Amino acid sequence: MTATTHHPRVPCITAWSAEQSETGPLVQCPGGGIAYADETTGDRDDRGVLWQRAPSAPGQGAPQFAAVHSARQRQVMGELLCQVCAGPADQNDDDGTLWLLQDRRTDWPGWPQGMDVTEPPICVHCLPIAIRACPALRESHAAIRAFTAPIVGIRGTLYTPSPTGPVAAGVSVVDFDNPDIRWVLAHQLIRTLHQAVVLN
Ligand SMILES: [Zn+2]
Repeated sequence: MTATTHHPRVPCITAWSAEQSETGPLVQCPGGGIAYADETTGDRDDRGVLWQRAPSAPGQGAPQFAAVHSARQRQVMGELLCQVCAGPADQNDDDGTLWLLQDRRTDWPGWPQGMDVTEPPICVHCLPIAIRACPALRESHAAIRAFTAPIVGIRGTLYTPSPTGPVAAGVSVVDFDNPDIRWVLAHQLIRTLHQAVVLN
């Protein structure tokens, strides 16, 4: 067995061409917000947030490196697993969890303190795989440790009501305490990085 068989070349959160999202027929709830016309209990999380549907067929077709598979992102982000191999993300007691982000340290002093991220954390072994797989990371990247990174909300498609049913109004980032979350079809979990330090 070679080293490459231990770690996948395609990050687990990457969507494959056989995994096209199915928005499904959305309807307006009488009290406001959206629902699937044929909704089942698995369509919402414990907080009552409605999630985008997508078939699970990793490895089938071609990897779509610019696209994230919603259910896998939600699982690895929720459990602080590695975005590439879905094993435990690298963590230590002193500095917290390891993350790999596009290098934006010139955006504001103290970056990435307090930044919302959709990228799940990573393990040390998978750092080079993630960089190879992502054009943006090939351009620039920063390894970061965040001591805490609470789950704060979701990124998804915001809908608005209309006489003919809900209409997509664009991609939005919404905290769990925002009432607008009833109008969002969630696609990715968001965590906020706190006590974060750039390693390179
Ligand atoms: Zn990994």
